[in-house]
Amino acid sequence: MPYSALQAELAARSQQHLYRQRTVIDSPQGAQVLVDGRLLNNFCSNDYLGLAQHPDIIAAAQAGAQRWGVGSGSAALVAGHFGVHDAFEHAAAAFVGKPAALSFCTGYMANLAVITGLLGREDVVFADKLNHASINDACLLSRATFKRYPHNDLAALERLLATTPARRRLIAVDAVFSMDGDTAPLAGLLRLAEQYDAWLYVDDAHGFGVLGDGRGSMAAAGVESPRLIYMATLGKAAGGAGAFVAAEQVVIEYLLNFARPYIYTTAAPPLLSQALLASLALIEQEAWRRERLQQHIATLRGALAGHGLLSSDTPIQPLEVASSAAALQLSAALRERGHWVAAIRPPTVPTPRLRITLSAAHEPLAVAQLAADLRQLLEQAA
Ligand SMILES: *Cc1c(COP(=O)(O)O)cnc(C)c1O
Repeated sequence: MPYSALQAELAARSQQHLYRQRTVIDSPQGAQVLVDGRLLNNFCSNDYLGLAQHPDIIAAAQAGAQRWGVGSGSAALVAGHFGVHDAFEHAAAAFVGKPAALSFCTGYMANLAVITGLLGREDVVFADKLNHASINDACLLSRATFKRYPHNDLAALERLLATTPARRRLIAVDAVFSMDGDTAPLAGLLRLAEQYDAWLYVDDAHGFGVLGDGRGSMAAAGVESPRLIYMATLGKAAGGAGAFVAAEQVVIEYLLNFARPYIYTTAAPPLLSQALLASLALIEQEAWRRERLQQHIATLRGALAGHGLLSSDTPIQPLEVASSAAALQLSAALRERGHWVAAIRPPTVPTPRLRITLSAAHEPLAVAQLAADLRQLLEQAA
């Protein structure tokens, strides 16, 4: 068998309770989803504001398809950049208070573009140990010296900054850590960036739309600087797909000229930009979504106090468990009770956990029921 080595590796993963499979969903993304003919309360999506199936966004996507067709037909730099792409970039930059923005097909590509575009062999990238996989991949691909510091440890970062010579320095962080739900010390990071003449790159995949009146983690922290290069993804709270990078005009022009993951790919369908303009309007106008989300966070944390929740005030509420097997068992037991909660295991995270995510789309009763069922299961197991 030409693939026996692959089969053996898969079998080993399975034995360690680390085998991965997809779940097929037969409904739109939402607070409840249809799986195997059953409606489950969905606590694993990143649709934090409940916008993924919002009628205004659907209508904008439909109108966008009528106006612009479906395919963009080309890379942005050739013949794939439409008026509505441009309009979205301007709106996104204005919304987060930056001079310019550039849109990307995915957040993963935005991270690759910024880090590989700005850095090369003579440069250094300083990165939090818990950064998203896409930042880590980008750092490796950039060929820059890759210095990782312990999670949120500003003193350790400062030692590295002080002792690592480089042509250019970039500090790269998740603003909200995707598997832990906690936040980066942005004001402190910016201070170090200024002190050591570095750029600060902030990946706000989980803060945009949710924090700082929807404008994201920098607005929430009250920090701004021309050194700051901001990235938000649009497949999470924005309920669409893609990402944008917002920065000084010169940075955007540079990426447009040098960032290969921007240059060598077909532009996203223009209808998506039209949908995202509708999504931006909802993020700006509907503060009640963020308020309702905060209530859900308080409900869950109140009900599960002392039961292993990590410290987090964001919609990402991870609950640490003893082993990958235990994580899978808990996830399966919750599923029997009608709740879908993902078991996240190594190598995605260092220690196994249930990753509970909350959404404004959830009914208060569903959140209370999840907390009650989870508590009962944890107490039984103890
Ligand atoms: C989801 C995520 C990404 C990737 O964004 P996509 O649009 O899904 O490719 C990047 N960074 C972080 C922190 C994320 O959570």
